[in-house]
Amino acid sequence: MTASLNKLVLATGNSGKVKEFTQLFAEHQISIVPQTELKVDSVPETGTTFVENAIIKARHAAAQTGLPAIADDSGLVVDALGGAPGIYSSRYALDDAGEQVTDEDNINKLLRALNGNPQRTAHFYCCLVFMRHADDPVPLICEGRWYGEIATERSGMEGFGYDPVFYVPQSGTTAAQMSKLEKNSISHRGKALSALVPRIAALKA
Ligand code: IMP
Repeated sequence: MTASLNKLVLATGNSGKVKEFTQLFAEHQISIVPQTELKVDSVPETGTTFVENAIIKARHAAAQTGLPAIADDSGLVVDALGGAPGIYSSRYALDDAGEQVTDEDNINKLLRALNGNPQRTAHFYCCLVFMRHADDPVPLICEGRWYGEIATERSGMEGFGYDPVFYVPQSGTTAAQMSKLEKNSISHRGKALSALVPRIAALKA
């Protein structure tokens, strides 16, 4: 319908995400430009939910570039902790570790918070938002969830974030014991992307 959907800005500078998105959209002749390449600065994520933060980031990238934009927001949702760390997943241990908070710090805090608790169910959540332009009143919103349990200790060396303690019963491994390919095929981000790509491709048709 519109030629402008041939090129989208992605509201991230994360090279792993850029590569994954680029590959999937290439099948539909859609090119992905990371916002860092277009000198888009970061925007404060002031929402209290994943979807609000994804909309804030997509709107900002679209406003600064004039291109249609995609943004994602994801994190770990632990049932016994009322959904925490949730939108604060990357900086969960900030209070203990300070600004340089690492994945290690976050996992240590999570294991402490669940110490002795038999209720260990959790899921990773990903929200993807597509906005045709900054004032788009009807953004496309797709989500993906990946269910598992928080293990009592770390296993595996792959992945990032909470992967070493995210145990997936169906696989019998943690996310950090999976190959990137296996993880992408079943993860929260993989599911959200599989939902979003055909919806954007349909807008082009
Ligand atoms: P982001 O929105 O993709 O940057 O994710 C925010 C935070 O959520 C990351 O810094 C991680 O702590 C956590 N997270 C999101 N996705 C994953 C994942 O696939 N594995 C492990 N941790 C994740």
